[in-house]
Parts: sequence; C-alpha cells; structure tokens
Amino acid sequence: MRKIIYKMATNRTFTMLKPDSVEKGNIGAILEKITASGFRIVAMKLTQMTIADAQAFYAVHRERPFYGELVEYMTRGPIVAAILEKDNAVEDFRTLIGTTNPAEAAEGTIRKLYADSISENAVHGSDSDDNAAIEGAFHFSGREQF
Ligand code: UDP
Ligand code: MG
Repeated sequence: MRKIIYKMATNRTFTMLKPDSVEKGNIGAILEKITASGFRIVAMKLTQMTIADAQAFYAVHRERPFYGELVEYMTRGPIVAAILEKDNAVEDFRTLIGTTNPAEAAEGTIRKLYADSISENAVHGSDSDDNAAIEGAFHFSGREQF
C-alpha cells in the first residue's frame, strides 16, 4: 500500500551531505553528529543528481546570481541523501547545521566544523515541513522510507 507522505512529514526533515562533504571524507563524522543529536535515519542513499535534478531541486533560487554555480557544485559528484526523524525535526536540524554562511555559524554546528564557504557549505537542511516532504519524495519512494 502507498504511504501518504504528507501525513508522515511533521517530525521529519530532509538532508543532503553535499559533494564537498563526500569528497573530503566527512560522511561518517557528519552522520555521527546527526545521530548523536537524536535524529533517526528514516531513509538514506549515496546518489548523484543530474543537472536537471539540481535545477528542479533549487528552482526557487533560479533568478539568483549563484544558481548556475550551485547547480554545477551539487552535480559534480555523489551526495548522501537522507530523511531524518525527530520531534521538531526541521527547526532542530537547521540549528544543528548552522547558518548558510559558515563564517557566521555557531561553534559546534556542522557548517562551522565542515563547510568551506557560503556556496560549498557541506549540508542541506529543509526549511519547512512542506519542503521536507517535497524534498524527501524527490529522492525516495515510499518503500525506501523506514
Ligand atoms: N548559496 C550560494 N550563495 C549564496 C547563498 C546560497 O552559493 O549567497 C548556495 C548554498 O550552497 C546554499 C544554497 O545555495 O546552501 C541554498 O541557499 P539557501 O539560501 O536556501 O541556504 P540554506 O537553506 O542551504 O542555508
Ligand atoms: Mg534553503
């Protein structure tokens, strides 16, 4: 039976460990921080986005000057895509990753520890429950979610 993704999304968020994190060998360290912070892994895979995938995933930013570079960066190698579960998942995960620009990120956050710049910033985190459901469904079918 098909799962109804929207009804399940309230305590879930979606993340990507971006190509820089995979290239630098930081998958294990970042996943350890995520699970140690109380997030349960609901779905996870190593995958690579096509240009069309990244253009669609980041369509909200298509008028921004960094859009082309963002698509190039996000497609240049594999990512780890994952759905995570925790009470207050979206907000708590944004706190755990820190601000978009790692130079301004709080001590101990994933971006402070592992990101190089505002563009190559190690991880993605959904910004709302609705986007968490949309982004999770972009990468995972219902039967890949546990
Ligand atoms: N980004 C960038 N330059 C900027 C702002 C954002 O290259 O000035 C990239 C960066 O990789 C960021 C992504 O675009 O994570 C999406 O931007 P958003 O504002 O949604 O930041 P986030 O939600 O990831 O913190
Ligand atoms: Mg965002």
